[in-house]
Amino acid sequence: MVYKCGKCGTEVPSIEEGLVRCPNCGYRIIYKTRDPIAKTIKVE
Ligand SMILES: [Zn+2]
Repeated sequence: MVYKCGKCGTEVPSIEEGLVRCPNCGYRIIYKTRDPIAKTIKVE
């Protein structure tokens, strides 16, 4: 499964449990990119 940084868009090939962090910018929100159709979740 491939993940993608929510800030800089860097693809993260793997994530260790408890260490969700972009290796490029250090951003801590990573999205799953497994599904070809993006799903948007609104949090209000
Ligand atoms: Zn990043």
